[in-house]
Amino acid sequence: MTRGYSGGMRALTAEEIRASFVNVEPDDAARIPLPGLHEVVWEDREFLGWRDPSLASRGYLVHEAAEGPVGIVLRRADGRAGAGIPAMCSLCRATQPATQVALWSAPRAGQAGRDGASVGTYICDDLGCPHIIRMLPASSPWAIGSGDLLESRSTGLVDRVRSFCASVLAG
Ligand SMILES: [Zn+2]
Repeated sequence: MTRGYSGGMRALTAEEIRASFVNVEPDDAARIPLPGLHEVVWEDREFLGWRDPSLASRGYLVHEAAEGPVGIVLRRADGRAGAGIPAMCSLCRATQPATQVALWSAPRAGQAGRDGASVGTYICDDLGCPHIIRMLPASSPWAIGSGDLLESRSTGLVDRVRSFCASVLAG
């Protein structure tokens, strides 16, 4: 059975993930609850994103940059766009009901973040963009089907995740 383009990332270990967080103190990174890594299908992931199971306002996103894994801690804003108004995720570019897209902000790395600076953007509420780009409804203008479409969505997602993380790291 042949398989089309799937995108995907290298499988990361728990140690690599904990060491990857750039915008949190090491003590905090050690306490971050990790998802069940044995259940992760890495070949279908441009990044690993998950919500904190005990703290709904916290989320985590880890992707592989050229220099190695980069993880960022995100805070979810309480406010939402008006009910019924579609919202677009800035990473996967899927337009969804406003309840499924949230304003997430990431403290900047280093002293800037300790001083309160952050970078915010709209991202899928469950940080599940890699799942979204593989599960688009048939009515989507993107349409499911050829691997080329998935490849272009996947590379676009990787590009936007990298640039978002780069803005968190920018000094
Ligand atoms: Zn998304």
